[in-house]
Amino acid sequence: MSVSDTQGALSGGRSYLAIPGPSVVPDRVLNAMHRASPNIYAGALIDMVQTLIPDLKRVARTQHHVAIYIANGHGAWEAALSNTLAPDDTVLALVTGRFGHGWSEMARAMGIDVQMLDFGRASPIDPNRVEEALRADTSHRIKAVLATHVDTSSSALSDMEAIRAAIDAAGHPALLMADCIASLGCDRFEMDAWGVDVAVTGSQKGLMMPPGLGFVFFSEKAAEARRRLARVSPYWDWTLRAAPGEFYQHFFGTAPTHHLYGLRAALDMIQDEGLEAVWARHDRLARAIWAACEVWATGGALRINMGDPAHRSRAVTALSLPAPGASDLRTWLEANAGVTLGVGLGMAEANDPAWHGFFRIGHMGHVNAQMVLGVLGSIEAGMAALDIPRGEGAVGAAAQVIAKG
Ligand SMILES: *Cc1c(COP(=O)(O)O)cnc(C)c1O
Repeated sequence: MSVSDTQGALSGGRSYLAIPGPSVVPDRVLNAMHRASPNIYAGALIDMVQTLIPDLKRVARTQHHVAIYIANGHGAWEAALSNTLAPDDTVLALVTGRFGHGWSEMARAMGIDVQMLDFGRASPIDPNRVEEALRADTSHRIKAVLATHVDTSSSALSDMEAIRAAIDAAGHPALLMADCIASLGCDRFEMDAWGVDVAVTGSQKGLMMPPGLGFVFFSEKAAEARRRLARVSPYWDWTLRAAPGEFYQHFFGTAPTHHLYGLRAALDMIQDEGLEAVWARHDRLARAIWAACEVWATGGALRINMGDPAHRSRAVTALSLPAPGASDLRTWLEANAGVTLGVGLGMAEANDPAWHGFFRIGHMGHVNAQMVLGVLGSIEAGMAALDIPRGEGAVGAAAQVIAKG
């Protein structure tokens, strides 16, 4: 059967981009952005931005500092590195997929010496190995530990609190820096309680915004590391962004006006629902997806990349479906159901230069039960159309989780 046998007849109406970022932007956010350009020198915008700061910190569970950048996640990565490290400093990079490699490559390009612990593409960070590596660093050359909270390519979720405990057990002074781009607002994250010094995120995942804003949260210890640096490029310097004397210093130039109004609406939505409830919703929806995938997996073709549910993100699920299954399924769903699934990023096997054997379901941000059941039902239809072997009753298993918890 062709991958687009209904020739688009069933894919009209509102489409659903079920990839792990950019995520679905709520109408409330879109409507808040739909307005005439505001004055950037005086008035409502300036007052409104002051309200964003405490609410952003609430989402990251920190009392400390936040700097906002007109940037995507890569910009937030660079900002975090720029404010804490100098060329020839050493970092310990804890890698659980493509994004851990990406942050490491950026550090290397900035002249930073990267010592890497690579946990592969289907395992979380092992805190014991972190402790061992830090104990071996008796001269304390390592200045920071870079950890991906959720690696969006593998959907591995790592335990940041355990990594902090490992750093402390080794008696090591390194900063703990966390990539929370995929996880913030989806998986539980407690910056201060878990002893994270720097947390980076972007606007277009759990924060339900279009791409374009990067956020760097930092502790007093990280602020002290910044003060010890001889120089930081002015655009990335977080000092004035986090404590501006003048409004324009927040953004080192023109404020991202409409994004800021969208962000206000997104933070209102998180506050109205309650952060704990947001995490609980992501947990329930993720478990519904896993329940369906586990049933499909009994047919022998599909496999959840992260075997142990304890190490799975609630924001994204990476799935293996040997080539050409994953690619055909994505194509079929887009053409026949109006659903776009994520490509398998950085998951290629040695003999598969592309990513045809993996796909990902994004379930971060503005997602509810009918959307998840719709995606799962559409995948069921796609598998049926493509004759992909699968266990029976997957969507029913997901419905059971939605119904009973
Ligand atoms: C999306 C993502 C990034 C990259 O963010 P961009 O906005 O695409 O630059 C980095 N790390 C993680 C974990 C991500 O999910």
